[in-house]
Amino acid sequence: MAAVTFRGVTRRFHGATRNAVDHFDLEIGDGEFLVLVGPSGCGKTTTLRMLAGLEPVDEGQILIGERDVTNVPSKDRDMAMVFQSYGLYPHMTVEQNIGFPLRTSGVPKRERAAKVREAVDLLDLRELLHRRPGELSGGQRQRVAMGRAIVREPEVFLMDEPLSNLDAKLRVQTRTQIASLQNRLGVTTVYVTHDQTEAMTMGDRIAVLNHGKLQQVGAPQELYDAPANEFVASFIGSPAMTIWSTRLDAGMLDLGDAKVPVPESVASLAGEREVRVGLRAEDFSIAKNGEPGLRMHVDLVEELGSDGYLYGRAPIAGQELQLTVRVDGRHHAQIGDTVTVRADTQRLHAFDPA
Ligand code: ADP
Ligand code: MG
Repeated sequence: MAAVTFRGVTRRFHGATRNAVDHFDLEIGDGEFLVLVGPSGCGKTTTLRMLAGLEPVDEGQILIGERDVTNVPSKDRDMAMVFQSYGLYPHMTVEQNIGFPLRTSGVPKRERAAKVREAVDLLDLRELLHRRPGELSGGQRQRVAMGRAIVREPEVFLMDEPLSNLDAKLRVQTRTQIASLQNRLGVTTVYVTHDQTEAMTMGDRIAVLNHGKLQQVGAPQELYDAPANEFVASFIGSPAMTIWSTRLDAGMLDLGDAKVPVPESVASLAGEREVRVGLRAEDFSIAKNGEPGLRMHVDLVEELGSDGYLYGRAPIAGQELQLTVRVDGRHHAQIGDTVTVRADTQRLHAFDPA
C-alpha cells in the first residue's frame, strides 16, 4: 500500500490546442479511496493512464510513496487497473482469467491456486470458476475483472469507469460492493467516473476535473456544502443548483416581491458588482398563504414518493430564472400552476463571474 502524489502533472497531445491534463496537483493518502470525477473528455483517463505508466508525462512528477515513478515502466509500478471493458480473455475460464497475472509473473501453481481461491471467495464467484466470459452476466464479468486486479495484491488499484457497462440497478449494487471491498482490503484506490452520484457515494474524497484542470478536492459533503466555483456547484449534487446573476441592493437580494438579506460572506464578495449566486433545491420552499416570494410557473413535476422536485421559471430582477425547488411528497403541484417560492438566502452561495 502507498500514498500517491501528483506534482504539476501535464499531458499535451500532439496537435491539441490545450493540455489534456494541465498542471495537476493531488496527494492521495495511503489506503484512501479517491474518486476522480468530471465530464467526458476532461482528462480523467489520461490522468489514470499517466499514473499507470501507460501514457507519458510531459511535465511534472508522479510519486508512489517516496518513490518518483514518472519515468518508471508500467510493469514496475505495482498497480492493477480495472477498465470499463474488463479486458477478459474470452477463451479462458474465470479461474484462468483471475490467475493470469500471477501466471505471467511466474507465481508457482500451488500459490496461484490459493490466491485465486481467496479472490473468488471474496467476490462470490465460486460457482462460476469453470465458465468462460461469454457465459457470464455483465455484473459477473465485472467481478472477474476485479478478481484479476485483487490477486496481484498491488500497492494501488486504478479503476476507469468500471460500472459503465452495467444496468442502473446493478450499478447501484456493485458500487456498494466495490466500496466495501476497498474498505476491507485498505488498498489505495483511484476510481474514475463521470457520474457524480457514484463519486458522492463511493469516495473518501472527490477530485473534480474540468478541461484538464483540478477544480476542487474534498470530502463529498464539503464539495456539496462549499463548492469552490460554479462548475463544481452545478456538477456536484442532483438536481443541479439554481444559479443566476445579480447585483445586491444595499446588501439585500432582490427575490421578486421580497428583498432579503444575504450572508456576510456573500455580501463582501459581491460588493457593488454583479455576481453569480446559487441555491440548492432544498433551500427553496413553497410559501404559505400570503407570504411574499418568487412567482414560479411550474414546467415539470418530478414525484419521488417521499419528496419531489418542481422545475419552473420565475421573473427575478428583470430576467427569467430557471429554478428547481424541492417539495415534500404531500405537495401536489401540477404543470402550469403558479406557486410562490421562498428562498433560504442564509444558504446562498456566491461565485465570481466566469
Ligand atoms: P475522459 O477520460 O475524462 O473522458 P480523456 O483523458 O480520455 O478524457 O481525454 C482528455 C482529452 O484528451 C480529450 O480532449 C481527448 O480527446 C484527448 N485525448 C485523449 N487521448 C488522446 C490521444 N491518444 N491522442 C490525442 N488526444 C487524446
Ligand atoms: Mg475516460
